[in-house]
Amino acid sequence: MSRLTATASCTAYTAVVEATGEVVAQALLVRRVAWLTALARDVTARLVVARWNRADLDALGSGVGLDGRVLPSKGWMAVRRLGWGVGPEPGVYVCDRVLRCAQEQAARLLRLALHRRRLVAAIVATWPHNPGARTDAEWEALGALLPDGVTAADIRNRTRQVRAYRDAHEVFPADLTELEEPPNVAAQVVLAAADRQLLTLERAGDDGARLRVRLPLVESPASARDWAWHVLSVVLPPTVPPEARLCAPTLRVTKGRVRVDLPFQIPIGFVPATGHVIGCGFDWGVNGLLTGVVGRLVADGRVISGSRVIGDGRPLLYDASGVSAKLHRLRAEREHLAAKIKHQQRLLAGMTGADPRYAALSAACQVIGVEHERLCARIRNLNKALAWSAARWAVDQAVAAGTTVIYLEDLATLEARGRRGSANTRLSGQVRGQIVEAIRHLAAKYAIAVVTVAARGTSRYCPRCGDGTSVLRHCPAPDRLADKGWRWAYCPACGLSCDRDWAAAERIVSRGLLGQHATRTHRSTGVRTLHAVVERNVARARRTRRLTRAARRARRTRTDLHPRPAARDRAKRRPTPKRPTRTPANSRNNSMTSSRVPDRRTVPAPPPTGGGQRPAGHAPKPGRHQPYRTGHVRNSHHRTGFHHAKATPVLIHIEHGNSPGQATPARVT
Ligand SMILES: [Zn+2]
Repeated sequence: MSRLTATASCTAYTAVVEATGEVVAQALLVRRVAWLTALARDVTARLVVARWNRADLDALGSGVGLDGRVLPSKGWMAVRRLGWGVGPEPGVYVCDRVLRCAQEQAARLLRLALHRRRLVAAIVATWPHNPGARTDAEWEALGALLPDGVTAADIRNRTRQVRAYRDAHEVFPADLTELEEPPNVAAQVVLAAADRQLLTLERAGDDGARLRVRLPLVESPASARDWAWHVLSVVLPPTVPPEARLCAPTLRVTKGRVRVDLPFQIPIGFVPATGHVIGCGFDWGVNGLLTGVVGRLVADGRVISGSRVIGDGRPLLYDASGVSAKLHRLRAEREHLAAKIKHQQRLLAGMTGADPRYAALSAACQVIGVEHERLCARIRNLNKALAWSAARWAVDQAVAAGTTVIYLEDLATLEARGRRGSANTRLSGQVRGQIVEAIRHLAAKYAIAVVTVAARGTSRYCPRCGDGTSVLRHCPAPDRLADKGWRWAYCPACGLSCDRDWAAAERIVSRGLLGQHATRTHRSTGVRTLHAVVERNVARARRTRRLTRAARRARRTRTDLHPRPAARDRAKRRPTPKRPTRTPANSRNNSMTSSRVPDRRTVPAPPPTGGGQRPAGHAPKPGRHQPYRTGHVRNSHHRTGFHHAKATPVLIHIEHGNSPGQATPARVT
């Protein structure tokens, strides 16, 4: 039994001083928590700045302490073993546990820097001939040096950073410390490093927690008497199940509130890498953000080499073109503002404070800076919401279809495929990375395995014929098979004509299910990948539909279900009637509008639907979302949390396969 960790963001509104029973109102509590975070931040910042050099990063990276022993994994212990302890300002009393928290945060920042440092070193060591487009050999050389868990977006951003440095200094950076300033230290207290002398945490009922923590009573406490135990009661969000184990939180102050970032662990079952029969395959689409197919492994004979995959003939599409167009606009706006800020800073650098234009320009620069920050936050939030919405939809589909495994197209090979032109492909690789992470997290809750599959050739070859050897022709639309395009796939050999992403998703689920014995699980991260490619044709089966009552009657009585209406007599026997001429008497509208358009609504407005949209990424809960269950469904799309994202609705399949006489799929909301 393993555990899945997630973080719930809670708010503490008031507290009680334990010794006196005095109730601390929100404003005072915010001040006291802010004092604590400021004390910790001060220590952390001084420690990070003091150790931001090559020798000290080497020492931390070597993993060996001053006494020759291996450094402990706990950050604050490693910092102390290296003899890097930093005390508080003179005259300020801070208990040792607060120092631990500060050292823990410093160690985390420096260890993250070590990761970036390895990445930069690998990029510099294998600097490509053309930094915009690496060749296959250059990718391979880089891949051999990279640390684990590096995404393509990371590589691209770091490559740009190194290139900018080289353009400015005409040499490569010798170390990360030349490339970057010491990282900013957030005002927060990582209580994970503390013990019972600084905090205790216990559950209070199913949806609450009681956090006891020592807070300073003044801004710079002079002795232990300036500290007191406070009891904060925290309401847990409904995403925290009653059986979850709570871990030590991180405290911070944002927007005048005390935020308690509370990690919790829930037990999850073990998911085997093999033995899957029904699986879901998802392709990062051209026409939609994600396109999925449910496939079932069917054994022909008893040998695995004779088995094949049958799809259920229902493409699952999550289309976020509207949202990604919005993201694209926001990103363009962000670049525009960034260029403006850069220009104004250049102008300001050439002026003195005595210049009459200086004050106005620096004020304008500040305003644009604030706007830029807000825009960045907006993009970040939208990316996150989109990622969780898409992941929730994908996992809902997998659960509804009764699958035990999700096969995803590998992002690394996607990146290497180069430019693809629709609105969906403008989504940054970062969003896709977030979607993969979110799918892994949500799927783990339902004991569904997530495996990334090599994507090479998935949209190039036909899934229906020639055992993966007949090449598909891509065209703009099903009625323009002769033209060159990329949205539609057509196989000249077998006549298959379908959405290109659908064909690709079928190949992904087929590769996954047929090659599942070669699935590899990473030892430390648990990430599952499948590099072996087993090609086999995918059949498509549809459930037969039960006939409607009218159709049954038509069959019984041997009548035509759709009788052709009698031909209309089109002969012209009378002159075409003239439209009435507009006169002041018959025209109430002015002459600019057509007299045919009524000036008021002739049908009643549609009734309010109630319930609204489900927030992105939230699980449907029976009882809480009654309006979705009782209200009729207005359109055929899944509730994604976005007005401009459309997705195939999640239907529960009573049984997978093509045997007749099955119940109609039921909609879940
Ligand atoms: Zn074909």
